[in-house]
Amino acid sequence: MAKSVDKCSFCGREKRETKILIAGLEGHICDNCIQQAQVILQEELAAGKHTDLPDFKLLKPVEIKKHLDQFVIGQDEAKRVIAVAVYNHYKRIIHSKSVKDDDVEIEKSNIVIVGETGTGKTLLARTIAKLLNVPFCIADATALTEAGYVGEDVESILSRLLQVADYNIEAAERGIVFIDEIDKIARKGDNPSITRDVSGEGVQQALLKMLEGSIVNVPPQGGRKHPEQKMIQINTQNILFITGGAFDGIDKKISNRLQTNKIGYKTDKKQQNIDKDHILQYITPVDLKAFGLIPELVGRLPIVTYMHTLDHDTLRRILTEPKNSLIKQYTKLFELDNIKVTFDEDALDFVVEKSIEFKLGARGLRSILEGIMTDAMFELPSKTATKSLRITAAFVAEKFQKTSMARLKVA
Ligand code: ADP
Repeated sequence: MAKSVDKCSFCGREKRETKILIAGLEGHICDNCIQQAQVILQEELAAGKHTDLPDFKLLKPVEIKKHLDQFVIGQDEAKRVIAVAVYNHYKRIIHSKSVKDDDVEIEKSNIVIVGETGTGKTLLARTIAKLLNVPFCIADATALTEAGYVGEDVESILSRLLQVADYNIEAAERGIVFIDEIDKIARKGDNPSITRDVSGEGVQQALLKMLEGSIVNVPPQGGRKHPEQKMIQINTQNILFITGGAFDGIDKKISNRLQTNKIGYKTDKKQQNIDKDHILQYITPVDLKAFGLIPELVGRLPIVTYMHTLDHDTLRRILTEPKNSLIKQYTKLFELDNIKVTFDEDALDFVVEKSIEFKLGARGLRSILEGIMTDAMFELPSKTATKSLRITAAFVAEKFQKTSMARLKVA
C-alpha cells in the first residue's frame, strides 16, 4: 500500500507545499492556515465577543500624584498638572455615561509635555497608565507620515493600542497613547508652507481628527502589509493623548515673548522677576504655535506642562529613591547571590557627576553604573567566600577609567 502523504486538514496542501505542517491528534495544520486563523481570531475578538473590561481605578489627583512620586522624582509641577488632567479625563468618561441633553459637556483634555529628552516624560505617562490599569502605547511622531506616503499612517498608533488591549475595543477606547517627539513634526518656520511638507504639517493635519475624538478605521495588524484585513472602528473620543517633545530652542521663543510683553507693559513688576534659568515654566500654547505646531493641533492639546532639566540633586535622588531605583536593583541582584552590596555616598556622587559631565541625564546613570559594576557582577558569583561588597568612590573612579565611556570626549 502506498504511504499516505501528510496534508493540512484545513486547506488540503501537502507537506511539501507548506513551510511547516503541525500535527494534531487527528489532523494537521499548515503555516498559512495558522496565520489566517490568527486574523480571524483577532477580528472575532475585536467584534466584541470579548468585552470584559479590566478593573479600572479612578483615583483622586492627590492620590495619583502620590503614586507618581514613588516612581518619578521631582517634576512636581508636571505631576500635579497631569494628575488633574487625567482625573478630569476619566471623570468625564464616567460622567458621559449618565449625561442628559442639557448637561454641561466636559471637553477632552489632551496633554503636551515639553522637556529635554530623558527627563521622565515617557516614564510619567507609562506610570499613570499602569496605575489606572488602562492600555498604554508609545508612538514616535517622526515615524508617521501622511496617508499615501512611505512610513506609518497615524492610524497605526491605534493598531498598537488595540494590540496592547488584546483586541478589546472597549478597553482600547479609554486607553492612553503617548506620542513622543511631537516637536519633530513642527513646520519649519512660522509661515504656513506653500509647498507640501510631508514630514511635518501633513502629519499634524492627520493627527487632528484622532486627537479631537472621532471614529477611525484601524487596520488590526497595523501597517499596509495586510491589505486584505478588515478594518476595525475605534472611537478616539475617550482616548487620552499625551504628547511630548524636547522643543529645542523654544526657550528663546518664550524669552522673546516675555520680553516683548515687557515693553508693552513697562510698569508690570512681575515681568521683571522672570526666572531666566527655568524659562520653560512660562510656556503657553502661543509658544507651541511659534515653534511650528499648527493652531488647530495646539487647540487640541489644551494642557501644556513642562519638565525640568535634571540637576545634580534630582539625578542623585533618581539613583536611590524610586521604587525600582537602579541602586535598589543592583542591591537585589547581588542579594540573590547572597552578597550584601553597599554604596558610599561619594561613590554615587561620582556617578551623577559623570552623567552630567557627559550630558547623559538619567539614562546615563544606568550605562555608567553598568560599566562600573560589570567586573564585580562577573567575578563575585563564583567567589563563594565573598559575602559583602562596599562600593567606594575610589572603586568607582578606578572602574570608570576602564570603561569605554571614559575615553569619550565631553561634548
Ligand atoms: P523622556 O521620555 O523624557 O525622554 P524617559 O521617561 O524615557 O525620558 O526617561 C528615561 C529614563 O530615565 C527612565 O526610564 C527613568 O529610568 C529615568 N528617569 C528620567 N527622569 C526621571 C525622573 N524624573 N525620575 C525617575 N527616573 C527618571
